[in-house]
Amino acid sequence: MKVLIAILVLGIQVNAFGASIKRRAVLRDKDFNAVIDEVTLPDLTSDVGYEGKYFKIVHGKNNEAIRFDDSEDLQLKAATTYYHLNVARKFFAEKIKAQYVQEMPQVIIRVDLINVFNELGHFANDKLDPQFNNALSIPAGIGYEPKGVKPWGNEIWFRPSKDINIKDFKGIVDYGGSVKGALVNFRNQNHMANLELFMVVVLNGGLQSGAGITSVMRIAGSSLLLEAIYQSSDIAAQFFSRKNYHLDSALVPEIIYHEFSHIALSDHLELTHSTPVNEGLADYFAGKIANSKKLATKINDYNLFSGKKVEKKQQYRIGFERGEYANADFVFGLLWNVGDTVGVDIENNFIYGMTSLLTTNGTIRDDLINATLEACKLHCKSPFNDRLRLYKLYNSKNM
Ligand SMILES: [Zn+2]
Repeated sequence: MKVLIAILVLGIQVNAFGASIKRRAVLRDKDFNAVIDEVTLPDLTSDVGYEGKYFKIVHGKNNEAIRFDDSEDLQLKAATTYYHLNVARKFFAEKIKAQYVQEMPQVIIRVDLINVFNELGHFANDKLDPQFNNALSIPAGIGYEPKGVKPWGNEIWFRPSKDINIKDFKGIVDYGGSVKGALVNFRNQNHMANLELFMVVVLNGGLQSGAGITSVMRIAGSSLLLEAIYQSSDIAAQFFSRKNYHLDSALVPEIIYHEFSHIALSDHLELTHSTPVNEGLADYFAGKIANSKKLATKINDYNLFSGKKVEKKQQYRIGFERGEYANADFVFGLLWNVGDTVGVDIENNFIYGMTSLLTTNGTIRDDLINATLEACKLHCKSPFNDRLRLYKLYNSKNM
């Protein structure tokens, strides 16, 4: 009897620390297909909901964690974000040994939140331009006491999905003239620059006649990472379809990694706005965290910087830096190649070390390149020769 009680007490203790709590979440199998399987949720501090040492997953504007007795749909999002955020955190805290991430307080994660971010009020009014089909990381704020807005820390927001028919895309795009207007529209819906470009490709599929637009799209490129997600014929593919676009960002591991990477890099790269450099970096780390051979092959084959199977690889253009031709994919391809070129990578913190030399408004041609050359002095095996290799690489790209 004593033994039985001891086991029961032990059992409760294990539960209290969350070590034995298992839930269903979206995972990748070795072929990069999405599957739903049981996972153990690490570092839980609650035994009633999705709150742990490092993350609390809440629904919309709520402050309480999503509960283990909430609807299955909501729990799938909570479990998937919770699990993959911990994977991403572990990558930065343990593999890269990023002190900033090791010391980071608990981050609040909001799923199915439609509000626009407001720097003063945290959430904009419910009726103002509701957001769908994307994800973003928001910077901490000091709050606004007269209106009862409490201070908040860095947060990640996942939007609910919503079907958008290609026909409705066409409605947004003014074929005759303003591609720019169309892109601005997409940008407003998609903070994540790559997702925006990806949507343009989806849109392109429905716009065979728009030859003018097609050429612009090609310059703008597409997000390799999201294309890879789109191409995998699986549960993830159900998130997209040809005629109806929708995206449940809280169920896509690489989007979760991408968003956490923004948070992890926010000591130097603020969360206030997107640039090709900080988006390309977030994709780079998302690709590394995913640690999938299949995905790496896709990146090596199809990145527009150097992809083996890409016919027209991209040369650097000044337009990549900002505005509607901003090109996060070029940066992603560049970063993926820089590590390969000098034969060092995550293991000795080359790319991560470089981020400490960057600021939020860094340019590709000046700041990013200089940062890689500087970081190479510290982290490359043979700094002199490796720097020559990098110069050669950049020259070949017109940089
Ligand atoms: Zn992003």
